Amino acid sequence: MQSFLHVNSRLQRGPISLALAALVLIVLGLVQSPLAHAWGNEGHTYVNRVAARKIPASMPLFLRQAVGELGYFGPEPDRWRSPSEFALKNAQEPDHFIDLERVAWLDPLPPGRYEFYRKLYEKRAATTDHPDDYLPERVGLQPYITMEVYGRLKAAFREYRQRQAAHQPTLAVQHAIVFYAGWLGHYVGDGSQPLHTTIHYNGWVGPNPNGYTTEHHIHWQFEGTYVAANVAEKDFAGLVKAPQHLDDPFAQYIAYLKQSNTLVEKVYALEKDGGFTGKGTPAAFEFTAHRLAAGSQMLLDLWYTAWLDSANAVPNEHSAPPPVSK
Ligand SMILES: [Zn+2]
Repeated sequence: MQSFLHVNSRLQRGPISLALAALVLIVLGLVQSPLAHAWGNEGHTYVNRVAARKIPASMPLFLRQAVGELGYFGPEPDRWRSPSEFALKNAQEPDHFIDLERVAWLDPLPPGRYEFYRKLYEKRAATTDHPDDYLPERVGLQPYITMEVYGRLKAAFREYRQRQAAHQPTLAVQHAIVFYAGWLGHYVGDGSQPLHTTIHYNGWVGPNPNGYTTEHHIHWQFEGTYVAANVAEKDFAGLVKAPQHLDDPFAQYIAYLKQSNTLVEKVYALEKDGGFTGKGTPAAFEFTAHRLAAGSQMLLDLWYTAWLDSANAVPNEHSAPPPVSK
């Protein structure tokens, strides 16, 4: 992105340069846009739909019946990446990934995004070699947006319970719940794709003794082209089990991302063996099915946990100082 902006600013100097700049933008757009989709439209839709079909009978019926809507919202944040809505694109692109190698020194990760920002800026100030690598938007914010959307879902479930108990209409909050649950699925799905957790997100960087690809194609080849052509919902639905309550959703979600990160090299090894070329290999198929299933399972567990925990009494607001609002 840095070099892309640099090229753009250097070329804005006259009609021919402008035309050239436009061409560069179009070509870069074509090259970069597949990356923007993460698991592709198909993968994100499948992750959400498979989880939706496993919602237990103990959860609200309207949600269990919303398989189509939940599937539709799987790719929703990827619809927010068009240059025609620049502020939106700019603000939310770092939500889709986290380069865990860059935050290995920060364990555990703080639970709120602004404390995370502060730690990263402190690290950047103390770093002389490529300090901008620690900018929050370079490191990525994936677990923070995930927990923020999870929080919205839990709050909406709580509102639903309260309105039901008070015999008030619930249709509006039901719409909110379906949207938040589907939106959440996008980030959880991204987290199961190992290349969304790493500096090696699209081509191996640094020492490369095993000769993995350094070209910028592996990301979309795996999550987009290969999945769309070779994987269907039924191929991994059976791997997703009944949901379990997460006692510490943030810590368990981070553990899920770290587990995904341990599989980065596996993606490169499979690619090297032609696993994602054309029809690919049985090993690549097995691996991909398990990654998609891991995404659906974590999503289902988060939905279930948000539902159960929304019944808990909220901490007494009067015990804390009154919030200061601007
Ligand atoms: Zn994404």
